[in-house]
Amino acid sequence: MASRLLVTHALPYANGSLHLGHLVESVQTYVFVRKMKAMGKECRFICADDTHGTPIVIGARKANLSPEVYVERIHREHAQDYQAFDIDFDLFYTTHSAENERYARRFFEALRADGAIDKRDVLQMYCGVDKRFLPDRYIRGECPVCGTKDQYGDACENCGSTYEPTDLKNPRCAICGNTSLETRSSPHYFVRLSKYQDFLRRWTSEPGHLQPEIRNFVDKWLAEPLRDWDVSRDAPYFGFKIPGEEDKYFYVWLDAPIGYLSSTDKWCHDHGRRVEEFWGKDADCDVVHFIGKDIVYFHTLFWPAMLHASGWKVPARVHVHGMLGVEGAKMSKSRGTFLNAREYLDAGLDPEWLRYFYAANLGPTPTDIDLSLGELRNRVNGELLANVGNLANRALSLVWKNGGKLTAAAPSEVFTQARTVEREIADLYARCDTRAVVQKVLDFSSAANQRLQAQKPWETLKSDREAALSELTLAVNVARLCARWLSPVVPRFARGVEEQSGAKLAWGDFAPLENAPIREPRPLVRKVEDAEIQKLASRFVAAPPAESKPVVTPELSIDQFAQMELRAGKVLAAEKVPKKDKLLRLTIDLGEASPRTIVSGVAQSYAPEELVGKLVCVVANLPPRDFGKGLVSHGMVLYASGGDRENTAIELPADVKPGSKVK
Ligand SMILES: [Zn+2]
Ligand SMILES: [Zn+2]
Repeated sequence: MASRLLVTHALPYANGSLHLGHLVESVQTYVFVRKMKAMGKECRFICADDTHGTPIVIGARKANLSPEVYVERIHREHAQDYQAFDIDFDLFYTTHSAENERYARRFFEALRADGAIDKRDVLQMYCGVDKRFLPDRYIRGECPVCGTKDQYGDACENCGSTYEPTDLKNPRCAICGNTSLETRSSPHYFVRLSKYQDFLRRWTSEPGHLQPEIRNFVDKWLAEPLRDWDVSRDAPYFGFKIPGEEDKYFYVWLDAPIGYLSSTDKWCHDHGRRVEEFWGKDADCDVVHFIGKDIVYFHTLFWPAMLHASGWKVPARVHVHGMLGVEGAKMSKSRGTFLNAREYLDAGLDPEWLRYFYAANLGPTPTDIDLSLGELRNRVNGELLANVGNLANRALSLVWKNGGKLTAAAPSEVFTQARTVEREIADLYARCDTRAVVQKVLDFSSAANQRLQAQKPWETLKSDREAALSELTLAVNVARLCARWLSPVVPRFARGVEEQSGAKLAWGDFAPLENAPIREPRPLVRKVEDAEIQKLASRFVAAPPAESKPVVTPELSIDQFAQMELRAGKVLAAEKVPKKDKLLRLTIDLGEASPRTIVSGVAQSYAPEELVGKLVCVVANLPPRDFGKGLVSHGMVLYASGGDRENTAIELPADVKPGSKVK
């Protein structure tokens, strides 16, 4: 790894508000950046608004503004939203800048000097009604590759293919709807991308640059000669003029990625640095781009080829995340599952909840994730609040009421274990596996909660004050470790633990905090209330929940009922099942020679540790059920619906022995 990092995420397009899908990328990227910064690495996080192209012209016209004023207004709004979610860029700039124009020309000249630019006449769709050529966004039709209807003229939102407007099937003018379009000729500039095909094959196959899933995808594109890329657009257009041309502009996708570099230049200029320290061919710097699945072609083919041809550093890594669904559906305006960042904030929800939820769901692969507000509530309340938050708050509150000073920590292995755990966590962060990070921290915190529960310092404070305070000091220290490991994800929570425990959190510091005063504890995590969730859900869930009718079930004979064997079972252990969001694997004592494995689909109702120790009701004579990958369930635990949780375990009184019959 190089000694410094330059990290970007996709430039948000300046024709609309940020939505919760944008924030998936922001959270993933900024968690990565924060972790690198926390570990003392120089890591610059550069972003800009992507401000050019026809949708901007259309949006500005609708808003009755000039494109310049329109993109400035959107830029201010974007900056405020990012700030509200604690996404802290080193610079959030714009592609409509003097720097970007200068670099766009430089790139174009470098490509031309390399013999990669062709100028030739192209046939273009022309609308006789509007009297203009119809590039990319001014034309709609069916994708020539997959047939999806209502696609723009440059790329398909469904299959990600890029093509020319003239390739669209059944095209129509996007301005007036005219379907009798003419084709007319106009000279255009093309980048001969196939010239860089060998370089791109090499670059994409070198380890670390792309995730394996993405590489497979890109390999298919590279198996065929790459098509030439039209980088010019006819006036009227909003963008940069091509040098030496009167009525031609650079296509927005030429100057947008250049915005990464030109914005870095702006930051360097403001901070007395040189852009070559980050983007120079031999710079001791890794450039890392975070993007969504929809813009892989641009970032893995066009952009590296442009950098290579112009003598700049090519990216060390392009990391692709999955798309966001909402409550099991695709996020879409027409389905009513579209949520702006601002709407989330206006509903009074805490930005940190969403950061936690996203990080707890995102892994290293480009797998789609789903925003379920019920799961968000359960994870925040059951994990962040009830597990890590509770450990910190309980221990700090007891110390505060009993002198307000930490003593010597009780002897424990945790400080030795913490070194290994921190190394693993740092590694997981570097791979963007925040889902595994969160699980590791929860496990570490659970163990400390269990120890506290067994030692009961709140009871022994009177009889053995010194021992009790030592236990509490240990718990505060574990909470501090957990807070620092989670700090890239939930910075406000971590800051709270830091302030209340009275000393900075620092990666790599394993000396316990002892014999030091603390400050007055306050709650560290706000509980997610059902009313808040419902308030947000009411904004986007178009269909009301299905009306519940009393269900008439057929009668059961007493003999049929007697065939069911119900027994009391004690939950000895509970854990999540990797890649199965709904399932918990329970180990249950039924009074038999060995405990049984039983799988319950209640992971969204219970954090695993909440079930441990409960005496539950088990259907014991069901045939084994295979969940794949060696996971077989031997029975079923009974849950009631209609409570606060979606599923509430039916609990038996504590004096009932495991294995006892329930009749
Ligand atoms: Zn398509
Ligand atoms: Zn028209």
